[in-house]
Amino acid sequence: MVDIGLFGLIMVAIAAGFVLGWRQRGRRLQQENQHYGPKYFKGLSYLLNEQADSAVDAFIESLEVNSDTLETHLALGNLLRRKGEIAKATRIHQNLLARPSLTTPQLHEAQLELARDFIRAGLLDRAEGLLHELVDVNSQYKSEALTHLIEIYQDEKDWEKAIEAANQIGQRRFGRNTGERAIARAHFCCELAEDAMERNDLLTARRQLQKALGFDRQSVRASLLWGQLEHGQGNEREALKILQRIPHQDPELVVESLELVCACYERLGDSKGLQRYLEELLAQYPSSSLVIKMAEQVRWARDDYAAADFIAEHLRQRPTIKLLNRLVELYLLHSEGRARDNLQLLKQLVDQVLEAKPSHHCRKCGFTGNQLHWLCPSCKTWGSITPITGVEGE
Ligand SMILES: [Zn+2]
Repeated sequence: MVDIGLFGLIMVAIAAGFVLGWRQRGRRLQQENQHYGPKYFKGLSYLLNEQADSAVDAFIESLEVNSDTLETHLALGNLLRRKGEIAKATRIHQNLLARPSLTTPQLHEAQLELARDFIRAGLLDRAEGLLHELVDVNSQYKSEALTHLIEIYQDEKDWEKAIEAANQIGQRRFGRNTGERAIARAHFCCELAEDAMERNDLLTARRQLQKALGFDRQSVRASLLWGQLEHGQGNEREALKILQRIPHQDPELVVESLELVCACYERLGDSKGLQRYLEELLAQYPSSSLVIKMAEQVRWARDDYAAADFIAEHLRQRPTIKLLNRLVELYLLHSEGRARDNLQLLKQLVDQVLEAKPSHHCRKCGFTGNQLHWLCPSCKTWGSITPITGVEGE
């Protein structure tokens, strides 16, 4: 059975075509008889008989393509694509491109829409070809074409080409997206740095990280990678210098640097330095993960009871499930009999709650997940995901 929405959509398009045809009736009566004649009413008949495919064909054949009707064709094509009817949308846009009566900007608009159909259908090579043509002829849709090319290269993980396309988007089109584009370019460089680190090409990695920070001085990802690189080379002091920029770059991401910071101080054997740094962080950027890290220091310096007291003290000020979980774990180590059974039960419940709750969310679209994605899988924004705060998070 044909979808009611699609039925309505094509009905509206045909009705719009009818109105447009009526307006032109006086000056082109003869043409109208030719173009809005039997096929047009055949289209309506297909709709009434719930045959959507035939209705789209009839629409294409019945409504002449010209400047007056172009918008109707484009609107129907785009709505079909949004509904997931990609083949039908493609047919409508290809029909437009085959019309020499349209002006060059109108043809470019149809070409851009066709490229969007191909992207939606996963035919990225075909989309790329159409978009490149729009860029090469300096079309008025160049900026949109480059934006789609960047999306394609991101999907294909072709970061060099993504940077190249981003560099081609003219300054005049940057507008309020300047920040977002700079952040995206910084992430492309970080991707290249990561690739270089995997190949052990540290010179290229450092160069890409430098470039990333050039695009976005607040790039926590660049600092984390650079810290990781220097730590891997045994340059702990250098690594710490870089990692200690993170609280100023984005306080919400401090927790992502804690493991590495602790590893650097530990390798230096500088437990006092670590304690001092963690205390500074706690005063300015408190989080459950930070309290747990500090409790570990207390545990090594003293014992489990002192660590549990430390957590209990912070649990009063900062009630979170994570802290409660750690406190129960520490008490479990020293309990016996019935108390142990009860604590075990409590631990199981807390574990279930923690497992059911996501740890990260997207600041832009609200997507939630259990790991830090640099590119939001939902809204495709770079650097928008952060740890969740509050009772169920940090
Ligand atoms: Zn998002």
